[in-house]
Amino acid sequence: MRVVMLGPPGSGKGTHGALVAGALGVPHISSSDLLRQHLQGWTAAGHDAQNTMAAGDLVDDDVMVRLVLERLAEADAEPGFVLDGFPRNVAQAAALDDWLAERGCSLDAVVLLEVSRDVLLQRLGERNVSEGRADDDAPTIAHRLAVYETQTVPLIEYYARQGVLRRVDGDGSVRAVAERILAALRGSGRPPPSSEHP
Ligand code: ADP
Repeated sequence: MRVVMLGPPGSGKGTHGALVAGALGVPHISSSDLLRQHLQGWTAAGHDAQNTMAAGDLVDDDVMVRLVLERLAEADAEPGFVLDGFPRNVAQAAALDDWLAERGCSLDAVVLLEVSRDVLLQRLGERNVSEGRADDDAPTIAHRLAVYETQTVPLIEYYARQGVLRRVDGDGSVRAVAERILAALRGSGRPPPSSEHP
């Protein structure tokens, strides 16, 4: 099964991306993890990307698309994957669609984690305190949410038109949200293993 996790910063894409991937038995591919892994190996380009990430802006589409598609081409992602943090704008989504179409496949589901702005701000503020992330201070959080609104929100309509969008309420315990996501995926493409052997 080929799944994309969509949602604003702080919506739980990373946590739930990992859980869903585990349940489906496919790799969890996080765009920000890919970036962080490659930053060390790059020199000037890595420095640029690091500044861009710290500011909460989107890294260049060319860089991002190349990184993600290279990862998707690896053998373990052939049966499926859970992508988290990518695509983040329509250009990235179109590049992903084209790449999948060239291989005779397409996305089975795009999970949109819906969380109110108040809950997001609270979660991101807590993460700033507990993890000390450079991009989780108050002004950068506000900027990342604005980038999400302008660049990523258009993807909701984009995937709704394709009929693959699954809206999931992301407010609640990790366990409750995970259940909702797996229930939403049961109606999409091949059902997850847990529904075949309840
Ligand atoms: P995390 O997964 O650690 O919560 P994010 O997914 O918010 O982090 O990504 C952190 C930063 O990495 C973003 O603010 C952005 O600078 C960069 N980034 C991650 N994914 C993409 C992408 N698809 N396109 C452009 N930039 C990205």
